[in-house]
Amino acid sequence: MSLECIFCKIVAGEIPSDKVFEDDELYVFKDIHPQAPVHLLIIPKKHISSLADVAEEDYGLLGRMLGKAHFFASEMGLKNGFRTIINTGEVGRQDVFHLHIHLLGGDTPLPPMIYRTKQITD
Ligand code: 5GP
Ligand code: ZN
Repeated sequence: MSLECIFCKIVAGEIPSDKVFEDDELYVFKDIHPQAPVHLLIIPKKHISSLADVAEEDYGLLGRMLGKAHFFASEMGLKNGFRTIINTGEVGRQDVFHLHIHLLGGDTPLPPMIYRTKQITD
């Protein structure tokens, strides 16, 4: 656990959250600022700062996180698809430095993933 990390504090129950699921390794909760009708965050209980900080020993954990994304997409009725996002570091615009998968979906298609500010011609 990282003392300054808000997601570690959520896992520890020190900050309230709208929990959907937890087991020994994972914690799933609703994003406080949902970007879609369904917006869950899937995190490891173990503090890993980002995808760039994952070690080979964590690959199984990553697989379980993705598996839970699929599971909760089904549970939430996202039968026509959904989006999973992992923002990493400054370029990826990561705000909270505790690894998390965003699970987003609803009844209608989400906006394009990246808005192009300039047309790429070559
Ligand atoms: P990032 O930009 O790091 O990929 O995403 C961080 C996400 O965490 C954001 O979507 C933000 O709304 C969410 N978030 C930040 N603080 C809290 C919090 O205290 N509770 C919950 N439930 N979500 C949070
Ligand atoms: Zn943490």
